[in-house]
Amino acid sequence: MQKKLLFNPDGTRDLKYQRLVGGKSTNLIEFANVKYDWAEQLYRKMRQFFWIPDEVPLGDDKRQYPKLTEAEQTAYKKTLAFLIFLDSIQVDNLGALALYITAPEVVACLKTQAFFETIHAQSYDYLLTSVVDSITRDEVYTMWKDDANLLTRNKFITDQYQEFIENPNERAFLRSCMADYLLEGIYFYSGFAFFYALGRQDKMGGTVSLIRLIQRDENTHLALFTHILRTLADENSEWFTNDMKQELTSMLMTAVEHEISWGKYVTRNQILGLSDNIIENYIKYLGNMRAESIGLEPPYEKIKHPMPWVDSFAAMNSTKTDFFERRVTNYQKFGGSMNFDKLKPPGSS
Ligand code: ZN
Ligand code: ZN
Repeated sequence: MQKKLLFNPDGTRDLKYQRLVGGKSTNLIEFANVKYDWAEQLYRKMRQFFWIPDEVPLGDDKRQYPKLTEAEQTAYKKTLAFLIFLDSIQVDNLGALALYITAPEVVACLKTQAFFETIHAQSYDYLLTSVVDSITRDEVYTMWKDDANLLTRNKFITDQYQEFIENPNERAFLRSCMADYLLEGIYFYSGFAFFYALGRQDKMGGTVSLIRLIQRDENTHLALFTHILRTLADENSEWFTNDMKQELTSMLMTAVEHEISWGKYVTRNQILGLSDNIIENYIKYLGNMRAESIGLEPPYEKIKHPMPWVDSFAAMNSTKTDFFERRVTNYQKFGGSMNFDKLKPPGSS
């Protein structure tokens, strides 16, 4: 594949020549004249979700953490180690994909997503500096060195990313987009469920608030990659041979297996509400749904959602009051009241 030009003087504003890859855009961003309405809407939605991690109070979490069971503390650390790894890698990789995407409105979404992944990485850092001691913090940031399970599963995603960066061909591009889709749609889910299982017992409320804000963003990222993959299937149907579809399905099944074994490994059947069996069914249920959303055959037999309570946590409308709901009006005010004078470079008037 060819990297696009930063500015393409032969480009046109005529939408009939625009494509996700290999289109004829000038690269000027023009939100009132876009080929992909879904991208313009997603961009606005993401922007509307802007939030600030360090405004979430964590004093109660700091007091509660030493009282968690050993199994809960282990799962807390391992889940954070995993989320930190992947959200950090996302920040950089989205830009690598964007170099080949010729729809400026989609590039705007990818860059905005990268900014939000930075906010997520900052949230984990904020959690670790606020809730646990510095030895535990070091342990979490270097866990990938000592925990083979963690490294194997995360490398499954980063290897696809790296492969495309080194060999930018169409197959590697598709696999890299699929890896993004699986990361956003499968990989995070047993981790989120673990935090919600704590939340259900009224433990670690600040952490749960942060995770809910993060998951709300991840849903927009999942929507973005669903649209990207569907659009590619539409515009580049010749890429989607039966072999390629099989390859994508097998990637999905590998991600599901990884997520199930990781979920079981992290929770050790010792977290209230999260048995091995429930984790397995939940992740396979998600796997079927993710396959269907991008036009692949669901690979598992039909499964009912085994823990619908997870969705009420994720939906931001649960009856439990949390930080976000109490403070939502303050966020809206924040944009208007921010003091930009403080941001001026020194010496300017
Ligand atoms: Zn994220
Ligand atoms: Zn994301």
